[in-house]
Amino acid sequence: EKVITTVPADEAQKHDAALRPKLLKEVIGQRKVAERLEIAVRASKKLNEPLGHILFDGPPGLGKTTFATVLPNELGTSIQLTSGPALSKPADLLPFLTNLDEGSVLFIDEIHRMPRIVEEFIYPAMEDFRIDIVLGEGMSARTISMNLKRFTLIGATTRSGMLSGPMRDRFKMHEHLEFYSVEELATIVRVNAVKLNTPITPEAAHELARRSRGTPRVANSRLHWTRSYSAAMHDGPITEPIARAALDMAEVDRDGLDKNDRKYLETLIDLYAGGPTGVEALAATINLASDTLADEIEPYLLREQYITRSPRGRVAMPRAYIALGKLAPKPKTE
Ligand code: ATP
Repeated sequence: EKVITTVPADEAQKHDAALRPKLLKEVIGQRKVAERLEIAVRASKKLNEPLGHILFDGPPGLGKTTFATVLPNELGTSIQLTSGPALSKPADLLPFLTNLDEGSVLFIDEIHRMPRIVEEFIYPAMEDFRIDIVLGEGMSARTISMNLKRFTLIGATTRSGMLSGPMRDRFKMHEHLEFYSVEELATIVRVNAVKLNTPITPEAAHELARRSRGTPRVANSRLHWTRSYSAAMHDGPITEPIARAALDMAEVDRDGLDKNDRKYLETLIDLYAGGPTGVEALAATINLASDTLADEIEPYLLREQYITRSPRGRVAMPRAYIALGKLAPKPKTE
């Protein structure tokens, strides 16, 4: 199923970049993570050493890219961005490695999707700022070693469990990003509304925050939609009734679940009698990739206890039945 957007992609990206915090002190929430990074940055400057390699993990849209782009600003260095799937062979990494500035950042998104051969190529770069390049083939093949500028690798992953042990061990810091509280999201909505020149009442910001799946990226897109809705239908600031009507129209329910969330829960309850069911079966029935289910849909449903995971698969919890207005079955006696 293709998603049709009415905003040109580059414009959406521009908006996204405009909303992104530039410095650590502008990052809202994730206080523990931000404080540790603050220390690391200060130490790196004082000791005149590059920041140690950092791995960020957590569900999509919680700010991994935001942290990665804030750090070079704090350090006064540059950043290059790429992603695991774009690096199919070691040679794909060469332009990035040879373009490094001293102390700069190389950001690899979805680093768990980097092939093993590229992973092994990057080890000496991470450890000794050196790469080994094999020239020629067979008997005449020889390896030359090339020194690199000292740099910081920042990896982001939604699946830290899929990263190999040796790769994981080469990161000095491991930071896990968690879902945001409603209060934190409300602050993000208010700050971003100011950046978008859009007056919004605190109650409306709270309503958007409450219905944004604990995720800043979702809050941003709900804010964009509500802003359009408000501009088209009303004059003046975004108020709570306007926010509510805009989200209802976008088929975001009162708990903030969207169409895919509800489809997931409906399938689990109606077709699989509430589970336990494997994620592959659910994905096939809903017609979505199982990675999408596991990375984007399930983490929030798990954390809010709509579902739970058992050894035999996913199980619907009472809250899921309530959200869909269905009668929960009596607990089975074993
Ligand atoms: P992915 O893992 O898919 O790259 P992500 O976790 O890196 O996603 P970002 O792209 O960093 O998510 O965040 C999306 C948007 O959410 C940002 O452009 C920014 O506007 C907002 N945002 C994220 N985290 C914060 C934060 N802590 N404070 C303020 N705004 C934030």
